Amino acid sequence: MTAGRAGRWLIAIAVLMGSAADRVPVAERVPVDGYTLLAGDFHVHSFFGDGGLAPWELAREARRKGLDVIAVTNHNQLFGARVAARAAAFTGEAIVIVGEEITASTYHMIGAGLTERVDWRQPASAAVRAVQSQGGVAIAAHPVRSSWTTADREALGLLDGSEAAHPLALLAAETGEALKGEELLEFRQSVLVHNPGLAAIGSSDFHFGGTLGLCRTFLFVDEVSQAGVLDAIRAGRTVARDANGRLTGDPMLVALVQPAVKGDVSGSATRLWSQLAVWLTLTGLVLALVFR
Ligand SMILES: [Zn+2]
Ligand SMILES: [Zn+2]
Repeated sequence: MTAGRAGRWLIAIAVLMGSAADRVPVAERVPVDGYTLLAGDFHVHSFFGDGGLAPWELAREARRKGLDVIAVTNHNQLFGARVAARAAAFTGEAIVIVGEEITASTYHMIGAGLTERVDWRQPASAAVRAVQSQGGVAIAAHPVRSSWTTADREALGLLDGSEAAHPLALLAAETGEALKGEELLEFRQSVLVHNPGLAAIGSSDFHFGGTLGLCRTFLFVDEVSQAGVLDAIRAGRTVARDANGRLTGDPMLVALVQPAVKGDVSGSATRLWSQLAVWLTLTGLVLALVFR
């Protein structure tokens, strides 16, 4: 066999290996304390907005990352989210909730479970009410001091959740900035005083790069459905996990989640196969080109 022919064979083998490694994992439902434990990411941007992935790809990508549910939340619009939810209903790969990142100058807020767009030109408390009147949940998005500057204290008592884990904590650590992760926890603590049911939410704020589900939310649901997920958030039955694996939430729930999610950042074997497939393809290409 010539080297060029061997190169072409290598490419063919690499394609097969790459496809095998791309298998979407089957969801494992872990019963915990009478509930089903799900993993979610409620802050995901998509194409037709300022996200890089096409909305019809998101449910599959979510499943790859071991997520059962995502909310697609582009800035001040629902179009991408609607497309994503339609596509997911067709394939059944993950629950996709229609949402919006209500983006005002003094606050960013996730509305998840929406049927209509919520106007950003209103005070935070009015935006929370607009979300809840549609049956949705309102979550303070990355409420660090430089981002959540609204003086609307009424909103704090109404919120269903706040992001307690967000990748900006990692970014801030890399640039030696203030401890953004601590600011997220401070916000949560200050709201909990008036609003003890506040859900701890971990979100990836996925745009172009980054990893979907890098920070995520574990939910204790009665029912594996959008309604079950939103109920769990309303009831505060959630635990947030940041990029370093730190868990935030009601200590009793954290204790229940800990053993169940140990090693849930799996897939390293799969990644190895994918990388090997990439290297085989490159070697094959070089051989095929040089020894034509
Ligand atoms: Zn934002
Ligand atoms: Zn965002």
